[in-house]
Amino acid sequence: MANQIILHSSMKYFSTNQQSPLADFREATIRGQAPDKGLYFPEQIPLLPKGFFDNFGFRSREEIAFEVIKPYVGDTIPSNRLQEIVRDTISFDFPLVKINEQIAALELFHGPTLAFKDVGARFMSRCLAHFVKDNTQKVTVLVATSGDTGGAVAGGFYGVEGVDVVILYPAGKVSSVQELQLTTWGGNIAALEVAGNFDDCQRMVKQAFADEELTNQLFLTSANSINVARWLPQQFYYFFAYQQWPDKDHPPVISVPSGNFGNICAGMLAQVSGLPVQQFIAACNANDTVPAYLASGSYTPKTAVATLSNAMDVGDPSNFSRILEIFQQQFSSLKKALTSSSVSDSQTRETIRAVYEKVHYLLDPHGAVAYRALEDYLQHHAEQKGYLLGTAHPVKFYDVVEPVINQPISLPDPVQALMGRNKHRSQIAPAYSLLKEFLLAKKR
Ligand SMILES: *Cc1c(COP(=O)(O)O)cnc(C)c1O
Repeated sequence: MANQIILHSSMKYFSTNQQSPLADFREATIRGQAPDKGLYFPEQIPLLPKGFFDNFGFRSREEIAFEVIKPYVGDTIPSNRLQEIVRDTISFDFPLVKINEQIAALELFHGPTLAFKDVGARFMSRCLAHFVKDNTQKVTVLVATSGDTGGAVAGGFYGVEGVDVVILYPAGKVSSVQELQLTTWGGNIAALEVAGNFDDCQRMVKQAFADEELTNQLFLTSANSINVARWLPQQFYYFFAYQQWPDKDHPPVISVPSGNFGNICAGMLAQVSGLPVQQFIAACNANDTVPAYLASGSYTPKTAVATLSNAMDVGDPSNFSRILEIFQQQFSSLKKALTSSSVSDSQTRETIRAVYEKVHYLLDPHGAVAYRALEDYLQHHAEQKGYLLGTAHPVKFYDVVEPVINQPISLPDPVQALMGRNKHRSQIAPAYSLLKEFLLAKKR
């Protein structure tokens, strides 16, 4: 035993651009993006311990989630605090609901803002609060949203001491419920309505992080899915789904409605760690950069176009470099593990209507894209079964869904409560200089 060395080292993260020093979970969370503008990626993908799946259906979700995330956090957060953070993060239901003989829906919309992004945002806000609790300088979380990120991030950070949040969203391109979830907070949450599209918002945020004059004065961090503390906890619910998966001998095909590809990338990471998965499907709307890449082998970013599933209106998915990293840049192995297809708005409407009429299950537009992609896939793989990720409650898109099913849908309490509240937002043109001015004015 004399030579045994006990290492208390933490997981290190490198930048996908390879030009930044390694960081631990704390530093990666605080920075968001690496200094060379790459994305942080774990040096090793941990393997799940032996016995992890024994009696899996009976293990507590808290225990599973803690075991999944612990190696990524290392010793940057004490275990008992991390257990509390995990417990808080997942304090709602994640039911796997059967739709028909072949297809189920993993409903990820039972959190406070009715979106799957609640999981990442709640985990990240609590980690960041832990890391900055002794800081004298305020932290400003700067985030661009195509719809649901903003509400989830605002909800996660509202009232968190020492943290200000600034959210950019594209004018007229988020649903009315989403806009309420962005703009009715006040307090430490500021919303900026940008006269442009989501890519404009994302570009302005990226420019702010690259602006040294600004970052010398403001302690800026991101809460987009590029942040490891938002990205990594998204693995949790793939495990919760597997707990509920009835046929453990035939792992599921998993269809993920994809925009920036953070969600599906977390699932693929879980798969590398040992989660049984038959196949991943990246379901996209008309923004088909990734389906086109998998078909042609050449990656060509496009300008985003507006669709019914607006949270997926992304022309250059920011997490795609992480997916390439998982497959060590091997196109052929990626192409085997990942199927991707593009679903049009009219197919989306058709799917919402058909599924509702047949089995009275109501899909939101994002879930409908994933349902359609999965259904198409299963037509050629009749012996397989799968589930889609229901990433948002259909009521968040009632303006789309109601006319399709020709029936009113009732608003759940959290949405009802927003209806009478005042909107707080500033409107700006899609110019970085205006964002900078706004941020510097906040400091004064
Ligand atoms: C954000 C979002 C997506 C896309 O998730 P990514 O991780 O960006 O791929 C899908 N559906 C809904 C409802 C969303 O809010």
